[in-house]
Amino acid sequence: MSFRALIYLTVAMGVAASTAQAQRLDLAWPTPNTAFRDGRSIETFIQPTESGEVTSGLFGCVRTSGSQFHEGLDLYPVARNRQGEATDKIFAALSGVVRHISTKPGDSSYGRYIVLEHPDVTPAIYTLYAHLSVVESGLKVGDRVATGQTIATMGRSAGGYTIPKERAHLHFEFGLRMTDNFSSWYSFRKFGSPNVHALWNGMNLTGFDPLDFFTRFREREVNNFQEYLARQPAAVTFRIAAGREPDFIRRYPGLLTKPIPSSGLAGWEVKLNPTGLPYAWTPLTAADVTGMAPNAVRITQVDTERVRMHRCKQLVTARGTGHVPARDLTTLLQLVFGLR
Ligand SMILES: [Zn+2]
Repeated sequence: MSFRALIYLTVAMGVAASTAQAQRLDLAWPTPNTAFRDGRSIETFIQPTESGEVTSGLFGCVRTSGSQFHEGLDLYPVARNRQGEATDKIFAALSGVVRHISTKPGDSSYGRYIVLEHPDVTPAIYTLYAHLSVVESGLKVGDRVATGQTIATMGRSAGGYTIPKERAHLHFEFGLRMTDNFSSWYSFRKFGSPNVHALWNGMNLTGFDPLDFFTRFREREVNNFQEYLARQPAAVTFRIAAGREPDFIRRYPGLLTKPIPSSGLAGWEVKLNPTGLPYAWTPLTAADVTGMAPNAVRITQVDTERVRMHRCKQLVTARGTGHVPARDLTTLLQLVFGLR
């Protein structure tokens, strides 16, 4: 048995074990507000933008009439000091490791932010906590944190714009990291400013819907992220004739739908959910990519209704009788497969 096949088997046995025990995550809501846990409506915990529409604080194509993506959940405070500033403590949603602490608000539109990675869960997702006022004293990169541990205080820090006092909130994300080679992509795109966030730059992070996950978890429809991601709807499926293993799939082997063939990997079939998360990976053999040039990409399935409903994510464009990658899928191919 090849090394990769052995890893897959280990993962598969892990899945079988988790199914048997329903491996239910130890998960915490990231703020002290109990409204969600108590089953109350989103108005009791979601902070809208200045539009005042509560949906503008949700995940997805929720802003500027659906043309602007919001990659997390905005949660408002339940405590304020005499100056009217938010004082809610921020809690680690899961046990994990501190990977990034950005203390200079001007360095990111996230303002002051923390990224945790969660190696104990499958896939080993990240969580991100943004617009913080204060990072918990002594917290540093590399520290282990427990579920529910205080890591910061809510605030309204931001780079490039101002969040007024009355709209202080936590921006919270769940997601996957695209590449270990982010610096190469960042140089290639010539942004004109240095990347001070290493691998934890928001452009290297792809979120999925925290409220949808928390809701399904609360309702016991899913017990963990693997069960949740396996049930994502496919908006776009593509094939790529690239016979290498991106670090993405080495990092998240739980997203493999079957073992990597020991006879030779010739490409991948990857499913994207409607907001562009590459959540299901099927390794392909040479026979599967016959006629495709090296690194060629072929769109093999498009759910046009789902793509239309999430039009702020530009995954594919119709061309001739089929589709070709659009802006956001092109970026994903650059990041994950190193295409240039
Ligand atoms: Zn936000």
